[in-house]
Order: sequence, then structure tokens, then C-alpha cells
Amino acid sequence: KPQKERQRLPVVPQGIERDDFLKALAELKELLGDGNVEINDKPLRDGWYMEHPNTHDMMTILDEEEFVASAVVYPGSTEEVQQVVLWANKHRVPIFPISMGRNLGYGGAAPRVRGSVTVDLGRRMNKILDINAEDYTCLVEPGVSFYALYEALKERGLEEHMWIDTPDLGGGSVIGNTVDRGVGYTPYGDHWACHSGLEVVLPTGEVIRTGMGALPNNNTWQAFPYGFGPYSDGIFSQSNFGIVTKMGMTLMPNPGGYESFMYTFPNDDDLAQLIDIIRPLRISNILENVAQVRHVTQYIAASGHPRSKFYTGPGPVPQDVIRAAAAETPVGDHAWAYYGMAYGPAHIRAHKLALIDREFRRIPGARRIDPATLPADEYFWSRDRVARGVPDIHELRWVNWAPNGAHIAFSPVSPIRGADARRLFALGRRLHDKYGIDFFPAFCVGLREMHLIVEIVFDRDDAANKAAALACLRDLVDEAAREGYGEYRTHLVLMDQVAGTYSWNDGALMKFNERLKDALDPNGILAPGRCGIWPRRYRGRGWEM
Ligand code: FAD
Repeated sequence: KPQKERQRLPVVPQGIERDDFLKALAELKELLGDGNVEINDKPLRDGWYMEHPNTHDMMTILDEEEFVASAVVYPGSTEEVQQVVLWANKHRVPIFPISMGRNLGYGGAAPRVRGSVTVDLGRRMNKILDINAEDYTCLVEPGVSFYALYEALKERGLEEHMWIDTPDLGGGSVIGNTVDRGVGYTPYGDHWACHSGLEVVLPTGEVIRTGMGALPNNNTWQAFPYGFGPYSDGIFSQSNFGIVTKMGMTLMPNPGGYESFMYTFPNDDDLAQLIDIIRPLRISNILENVAQVRHVTQYIAASGHPRSKFYTGPGPVPQDVIRAAAAETPVGDHAWAYYGMAYGPAHIRAHKLALIDREFRRIPGARRIDPATLPADEYFWSRDRVARGVPDIHELRWVNWAPNGAHIAFSPVSPIRGADARRLFALGRRLHDKYGIDFFPAFCVGLREMHLIVEIVFDRDDAANKAAALACLRDLVDEAAREGYGEYRTHLVLMDQVAGTYSWNDGALMKFNERLKDALDPNGILAPGRCGIWPRRYRGRGWEM
């Protein structure tokens, strides 16, 4: 996309005079070094996934200037993170930590409060501190990406010995993704469940280590997540209670073989039966990884061709057009594609695959696609890589569906039940039709629940398109919540709304979070508003949206 070259004045955090802010930044330069503090006064450049900006959300659904940083700082150590935090308290400057800032679909690198100083941890704190090939664990800093961890295993000759787990895109940070409770697609796909041990700088500047890390000279920080006493890690995920500077992660032993498989199912209405078939298979681990059931519309978009290749009319691309396009592909004229992987030596895989085959074929017309018939650039092979922990970026292709393509996600949690899948599918279709938006549902089935991930792709240079996408999302969140479905994660712009849906007992959980926030961060400097948690200094003053 052509880059805008609009000159702009630096933003200043609200409540601070420009001169005072510039003086404060000069003080920070003294502490961190001149090159490690950058004022954000240049034109905002969106770049692309691998060269993304750390000043704003490159896929913004609002005006780019809404969630924009005033400056970016690059601490090089835990001690320097502490210095930044103390500086922020002294000057009452809101700071917003990112590990790498590739949180696309959920806000990218942007802070929630305009004019915050972004603390880009990843640029200088990017070491893999340990890989333990006997315990299958590692200890990483915020700037370690899934690609970097994978490459490190290769460099050490360990890639046959142990696997990492990666989300669909491998350029994100292991810590950033995990603290936002992101997911991947091997049996270790629940990243938060697979981490062990944090080092955290608190909003008042103290450093703590959680779990066994609190025991001096311990030898089990990455092996036993709980330690002794209250398990505090949870409050540092999807929150604004601390800055994570180190994290332990478990790694998966090479299972001794793997085999990807793909099934397709002919009708939209097959969804409910399929989900009911998946549930017992998934809970009993016959289906071993986060299973994906994708609608054919997204499959067509994942070809990387723009929507205009198929349809140039208004509103969603008609389903007969999608199905006609699909008929030319390996999916054929079918509605759903299931992607999975069986793990282990051939004889163990064969047993599981036979069970899966028998169950899936209960749906009339179900077809197993022979991978040998699929070309090398077919989406299936990207799923194959990701499900064996090999980082990839193929998944970006469907973002090209719209010109200047960007996306934002609606991601409610539901039981693994056909009736729920049917309800969510109907809700999504109705609201997408109402706003004239193409509907991309993908059901990602965890052990006892599933996330429905609906990606809304929009043209970031088209204000009407963005407004429709946002209005659609807001309706989706509210209507889903009324039916008992809540988001597992959300974009900055929706955080207040989503937090508001978790309102049981007169908002008791948010009241608890606010008490924690005020106790841990009395000056309210750390990521105000993240996940709907506002510190006292900001509450009720019009920041919520
Ligand atoms: P960051 O942007 O660094 O961090 C995310 C947020 O966590 C930050 O905004 C910040 O609020 C907080 N945070 C980060 N680091 C710290 C820290 N050290 N201390 C305190 N708070 C911190 N995501 C998935 O999970 N699974 C997927 O399969 C997936 N597929 C995607 C597909 C596409 C096409 C796109 C565009 C995105 C996808 N995403 C997916 C979303 C996103 O790209 C990833 O989750 C990505 O890993 C997040 O970016 P990051 O790791 O750079 O995290």
C-alpha cells in the first residue's frame, strides 16, 4: 500500500505540558542512552507484517492517530525496565509494554491510551537464556519470536529432538503471544497452560519471580509452574499489572512421526453434526491438536486472491459464487474443511486415523483429501507446518481479500456442541449480512471448549468499510454475550465492551481487578485501560469506549 507521508506533531500524554514531557524524555535518554528513546514525530508508516511499526496499529479500525504512542523506548535489561517504570511514576506518564508488537487483529503495537510511551521490550531484550534438552524447557526474553526459537533449536541440532509450538504466524513474540493467551496448533497449543515461571517488573518498580523462581538457587523454575502460595501468574496475563521480562516455556518432545489430514463436508448444516463428532474425539485426545473447522469462504480467501477476482458487487460475496470458486479447488463444492494432525509412530497414527475416518464419514458426503494430490502452495501445507511447530506466514494471505487489507477478530468461547456451533454460525451470518461483510468463521477446538474465530477483513483506507466492520463487531459481542458466549481475547477498541460483558454479580470481577490495579499501580501508569481495567486516576473520566 502506498505510504502516507503526512507530517505530524508528536502526541503528548494528556495532562502533561509539551515542554515538561520533552524534558522528561531527555531525562530518560540520560538513563537509557540517546538511541534508545525515540519521539514519535515522523509520518506513521504501516509497513507490513515483517516490518511492522511499533508506534501504532498498522491494521487500525479507527483513525491511526487514535491509539498512537508519543514515544518509544528500548530498555536493554530488567534493570532498565525498572528505570523506565520509576521514570513513568515520577512524571505520571502512561507507558505501554509490548514484546514485539505483532498483535495484529487485537491492536498491533498500539497503546490503549493515546500518547502513551511504548516500551518496546523486544528490540534489545531478545535472548534465549536457556534451552534444556533434558527437561524440554526454555527460558526466553520478550524479543524472542517463534521463528527465533525454532532457529535456535536448529542451530543446536535439536530440531529432531524437540518441537516448539507456533501460532499461525511465526513472527510474534513467545512472551507477547503467551501473556495475551494466544494459541498454536500442536498438542502444546495452549501457550499460557504451557508456560512455567515469570519474571515481572511491577508498576512500582520492584521485580518478582513467580513459581519456583521465588526460591533462591532453585533448579525447577521451568519445570514446576506453581511454587508455593497463591499462584500469581494469572494476574499478569491479559492485564496491566506488570511487565514480563523473562518467561519459561515447555517444549514438546518429537512425537516420533506426524501426519496431517484434511476432510471436507458438503453443507453448511453439517457443522452441528461434525462438532458433536469432534467433541468426544478431542476430549479423549484421538484428535490431538487444536482442530480447525474452516468455512469455505475463508478457504477461498486464503488462496491470496482479492475478493474482486470473484465478485465486485455490493455486500457479501454470494455463496453460490464462493462454491463455484471452490469447485475449482481441491476442496470442491463443499462448505467446511477440517485440518488436523495425528502424532506418533506410524502404527499409532494408523489406529487414531482409522477411528477419526470412521467417525467423520458418518456425515454423508464427507471426503478425505489425499495430501499427495495437493500442490506445494496449497493452504493445507501451511497448516501442516504449523501443526508440527514450524513457523510460517502463509496465513497472512486472506488479509489480501480487501484492498489495503486489515483485519479484526471476533472470538467467542463456546462448548464443543453442535447446537452452540449452529447458533454462533447463524448469529455471525445474520450480522455479517446486515453490515454487508464477508463471513469467515473458523472453529478452533480446544480440549473442552472451542473458540470461534471470525476474522473481519476490511479496507483500512475506507472509512465506511471500517465503520461497518466495527458496528458489526459491537453487535456480535453484545448479542453473543446475551446468549452466554464471551470473548477469549479482544482488540483494544473493544476491551471496555468485552470486559463489560463479564459482569456477573454487579461486575464483581472488574471491581476485584480494579482493587488489584489500584494497589499495584497507585499512579496508574501501566497500560491504563488494557483489558478494560482502568486505574483510579482514569476511571469514569470518559476514557472508556
Ligand atoms: P505483542 O504485540 O508483543 O504482545 C501482545 C500484547 O500483550 C501487547 O499489546 C501487550 O499489551 C501485552 N504484552 C506483550 N508483552 C508483554 C510483556 N512482556 N509484559 C506485559 N505485557 C505484555 N494469534 C494467536 O494466538 N494464534 C494464531 O493462530 C494467530 N493467527 C494470526 C493470523 C493472522 C493472519 C494474524 C494477522 C494474526 C494472528 N494472531 C494469532 C494474532 C497475533 O499476530 C499473534 O497473537 C501474535 O503472536 C501477537 O503479537 P506479539 O507476539 O508480537 O505480541
